[in-house]
Amino acid sequence: MTPNHIVVLASGNRGKLQELNDLLGGLGIELRSQADYQVVEADETGLSFIENAILKARNAARQSGCAALADDSGLCIDALGGAPGIYSARYAGAHANDASNNAKLLAELSGNTNRGAHFHCALAFVRHADDPAPIVCEGLWQGAILAQARGENGFGYDPLFYIAEHAKSSAELSKSEKNKISHRALALQQLLPRLQAEYMAKI
Ligand code: IMP
Repeated sequence: MTPNHIVVLASGNRGKLQELNDLLGGLGIELRSQADYQVVEADETGLSFIENAILKARNAARQSGCAALADDSGLCIDALGGAPGIYSARYAGAHANDASNNAKLLAELSGNTNRGAHFHCALAFVRHADDPAPIVCEGLWQGAILAQARGENGFGYDPLFYIAEHAKSSAELSKSEKNKISHRALALQQLLPRLQAEYMAKI
């Protein structure tokens, strides 16, 4: 990797791009949106977070001609065998939104005392589309599902995800608090030294 090497982020989420660019800038990496390369999104046909992250990264690398980084994340509920998992964004159906997903989750767990859950994040970095050895890092964030929503921050399932150590829901944490302890933060903490080593090895 050369200094100011371009890496394409396999996501259309500008918030994620900004957050990751801040972290990766120090490594001489400029992260660009896959939209800048007119990348057509990959079909997420994998059965695991890792498989989908690698599929998305390879797809972005193939269409852009650059190295690529992808993430895939979701909520896994102990009592539901890990569901909604990779289907978290569309748990309540094709037209699901955060409110309908949260309502479905509360209905599924109604009367159930087993409330254990975790958020899962997989990050995959490929040097090129056919990279035989993607760098893969995962982060898990343990919590429990509340009986009713709490807090206004964050997105997705944050209002229902309770973190005992903080005695708060994820939606009651500030952005900077969440970004230190979340599944994404934990995965990123592992990815950064791996990318740094990659970068240092190639200068
Ligand atoms: P994606 O990885 O951004 O596509 O997230 C997949 C889905 O998992 C989201 O649409 C949310 O429903 C859920 N999810 C992932 N990360 C979080 C989080 O940090 N808070 C709340 N929900 C999340």
